[in-house]
Amino acid sequence: MIQNMMSVDLEDYYCDLPFHTWNKFQSRVVMTTKTLLDLFDRYKIRATFFTLGYIAEKHPELIKEIVSKGHEISSHGYYHMDLRSMTKDSFEQDLVKSLEILRTIGGEKVLGFRAPFFSISENNLWVFEIMKKYLKYDSSIFPTKTPLYGISHAIRNPYMISNENPLKEELNGPLLEIPMATLRIPFLGNLPIAGGFHLRFWPTSLLKLGIAKINKSGFPAMIYIHPKDLDPHMPRVPEYAWHYYWGLDNATKKFESLLKNFRFSSVREVMF
Ligand SMILES: [Zn+2]
Repeated sequence: MIQNMMSVDLEDYYCDLPFHTWNKFQSRVVMTTKTLLDLFDRYKIRATFFTLGYIAEKHPELIKEIVSKGHEISSHGYYHMDLRSMTKDSFEQDLVKSLEILRTIGGEKVLGFRAPFFSISENNLWVFEIMKKYLKYDSSIFPTKTPLYGISHAIRNPYMISNENPLKEELNGPLLEIPMATLRIPFLGNLPIAGGFHLRFWPTSLLKLGIAKINKSGFPAMIYIHPKDLDPHMPRVPEYAWHYYWGLDNATKKFESLLKNFRFSSVREVMF
């Protein structure tokens, strides 16, 4: 049975808002992450936690607990910025700041990164030039097309990026890209099934079909969850659209069904 990859985007429920508003909100991330850690313990699963530098600085004891359970800490940036609105310098500063904090608190070298909002598009592929300098892998490309993100024709399985074009494969390339799981539907395109909102939206049978098809083609699937996706009591945030709240009540049950039916581990254990 193929080992798939389980990942957590470790941030608080309000982190999709601009940074200067964050201090207005009451944090729930320690409680919601502990619930997730208990689930992983129950099913003996290790995961990669793409962690915001901001969260690590605020809750170092939580990061230490995650590491002590054998999970991997990777970077989700410091300020949860949309890469599509950043300059090369501001991205590099944000990335390096997060890497230093995560390394200091987690005590291990950080190998990977996930862009907030899956915000890698065909217009900001320059981010790979910077990532290559510091990282071994990236897991941000969503080979689908949604109103919010996605590169519809991107490669669907893990691959080494080419130096000239990060959307192309090169066997001895400088960085491993691990795209988010999608289900290919003939004539329609690639359906996003990797987790988060998709986990809450699609029936569990469709998610399982997607993972099984990826595994059948010989590849591991990359799945993700936010602690807030499993929090039925997430406070109402006026700026948030319906999809932040859709299906929160059933999400844990659906997520557990995936944990029961497939094998998962961290990126570090599956790919390195
Ligand atoms: Zn995020």
